Amino acid sequence: MELDLQPLNLPGISNKRPLVIAGPCSAESEEQLLETAKQLAAIGVKIFRAGIWKPRTKPGGFEGVGEPGLKWMMEVKQQTGMLTATEVATPKHVEQALAAGIDILWIGARTAANPFAVQDIADALKGVDVPVLYKNPVNPDLELWIGGMERINAAGIKRMAAIHRGFTAYEKVIYRNLPMWHIPIELRRRIPNLPIICDPSHMGGRRELIAPISQQAMDLGFDGLIIESHCEPENAWSDAKQQVTPDVLSFILDKLVIRDTGETTESLRALRKQIDELDDKVIEILSKRMRVSREIARYKKEHSMTIVQPNRYDEIISKRSAQGILCGMSGDFMKTVFEAIHEESVRQQVELINKE
Ligand code: PEP
Ligand code: MN
Repeated sequence: MELDLQPLNLPGISNKRPLVIAGPCSAESEEQLLETAKQLAAIGVKIFRAGIWKPRTKPGGFEGVGEPGLKWMMEVKQQTGMLTATEVATPKHVEQALAAGIDILWIGARTAANPFAVQDIADALKGVDVPVLYKNPVNPDLELWIGGMERINAAGIKRMAAIHRGFTAYEKVIYRNLPMWHIPIELRRRIPNLPIICDPSHMGGRRELIAPISQQAMDLGFDGLIIESHCEPENAWSDAKQQVTPDVLSFILDKLVIRDTGETTESLRALRKQIDELDDKVIEILSKRMRVSREIARYKKEHSMTIVQPNRYDEIISKRSAQGILCGMSGDFMKTVFEAIHEESVRQQVELINKE
């Protein structure tokens, strides 16, 4: 199913990607919100985020200030002229946020993983024209991500964007949430007119990772960034480790290199042509390899041999990995490629042995 979309039409920072949304993880007090907002407005941010209702992994944590915080958001809007955005997880949140005058809603990663909750929110959005940003579900399931956006879109919401915030990792080695960039890239291929915004704060989980992840998102052609920024990050009531001051945010945004995704030049076309020709050759060689492999199957059949001979398989994988490394590729990549080739080869041999 296609999404029926209209342009988001949200203001960005000039000469930067069209979209930068910034603000604290949570609204804590009117002072914290206004202080942060004024500093962000001063560096050119035009969309202010703050969580009013916070979904927490465990009970007992700070679950957000709730409805009173909506008034502070309106104060931010009035004093700075910024648009305001907050997370909604229930129809009641939707109703209260819209009644207060919040400009943009987002659906969080935990809610995005639950079709019942998403449908309830979609029902509450019927007949409303408000931009909705849809975070990826915590689990790496592109169909679930798209399905959720379809529910919101079917309710009549046409100004939408996806937010890529990474996927839950059991062991948090580098990232708090694994980027798995191939998933948003596939999303872009499936729904080309859907803007994708990266959330380097929740992906990295540490402030040092905000700059490199943001750069990577820009290099991959993402349309914007949503970054957590707090006037006193160390004292934040939630996600303290991943927030930066507006000052640091300004530095990060200034350092970002925005590459031109626009027109395709002659030299790029020529390089792509080379890639196409090489891919043709790869396919031709693979098909030749499969033909030889079927010959081998005939031989194995005549001599009553088993199809998979573990020694030979181990030899192929380790030799090819070593060769690949010598040619500047990673051993893991070579292993993945040759395991896949071997799998297809075995499939063809089994098919032949059972048929002929
Ligand atoms: C947030 O944006 O503060 C948040 C709770 O994010 P996520 O839903 O991505 O965990
Ligand atoms: Mn947060």
